[in-house]
Amino acid sequence: MKNGEKYAVAVRKPDGEIEIKKDTYRGITTKCALFRVPFIRGIFNFIESLSLGMNILNYSASFYEEEEEKEKAAQITEKELARQKKKEDLVMSVTMVFALVLAVGIFMLLPTWIAGFFRRWISGYLGIAVLEGVIRIAIFVGYVAAISLMQDIRRVYMYHGAEHKCINCIEHGLPLTVENVRKSSKEHKRCGTSFLLFVIVISTVVVMFVHTDTVWLRMVSRILLLPVVTGISYEFLKLAGRSDSPVINALSRPGLWLQGLTTREPDDEMIEVGIASVEAVFDWRAYLRENFPESELEGTGENSGESSGDGPASDESAEAAASACVCGE
Ligand SMILES: [Zn+2]
Repeated sequence: MKNGEKYAVAVRKPDGEIEIKKDTYRGITTKCALFRVPFIRGIFNFIESLSLGMNILNYSASFYEEEEEKEKAAQITEKELARQKKKEDLVMSVTMVFALVLAVGIFMLLPTWIAGFFRRWISGYLGIAVLEGVIRIAIFVGYVAAISLMQDIRRVYMYHGAEHKCINCIEHGLPLTVENVRKSSKEHKRCGTSFLLFVIVISTVVVMFVHTDTVWLRMVSRILLLPVVTGISYEFLKLAGRSDSPVINALSRPGLWLQGLTTREPDDEMIEVGIASVEAVFDWRAYLRENFPESELEGTGENSGESSGDGPASDESAEAAASACVCGE
């Protein structure tokens, strides 16, 4: 859960207890005014949330470490530990770059390439551009649906649901308790899923204005246009999060539908983890007092976040409420 520069990670440890790590994250967007300029900020925000997300996943995965590895770690010196940490960081950076390259290849270049085969039957450039967009959306939705069949991803999607439900709970003026979170919606307009869908749909529109002859030039243009598309998508996501106009709401609909795939109903233990991470970075009681003075706060204050430890320990080694979501803003 992220709130401005502050963020918190809540992890359900093997013994059932919830561990919370609080930290601040000062990305490049805070260092230079240029990175806060509309349409430019989206690109850097996207890269930063990817890198923070990877770090958090890595942190929560450290709870999975085998006992032997822990013993081994206890024996080595500090110098070796530092060297190991450096190596891990390098591996993580390489993994991230590789994943990004793969994602660009599959979601941006592959549709352009496939659509190229249909030039024989479709003469107009616009027709090809629309077809390319349709293929791109199909690949993306297919991918999201396919990975949701994996057991581990299902749990990630449930935690993603818990995250949205916690934020929706507060934003609708309800005290952050397990009951209130449970009945809140698992769809949220400022979600990373919606953002990615915007990137894909907006790239289809932008591509209609770029005419190139060969399939190779077209593929290069898709890569060059990606920062532009990312910048526009981010601004649109921000606008959609603020606005309640019927037009914007209609345009947000497909993103919310897709969240039907990327979020699942969490169980109460997952909701507790979500609540713990919100409470670490956000004073929701002050927020409710300020924005919803009429809301009932009595009797709800103390029972949330304390229920850690008394539930049965889950069979999973450790769990984290981490997801590549930008909804925490
Ligand atoms: Zn989300």
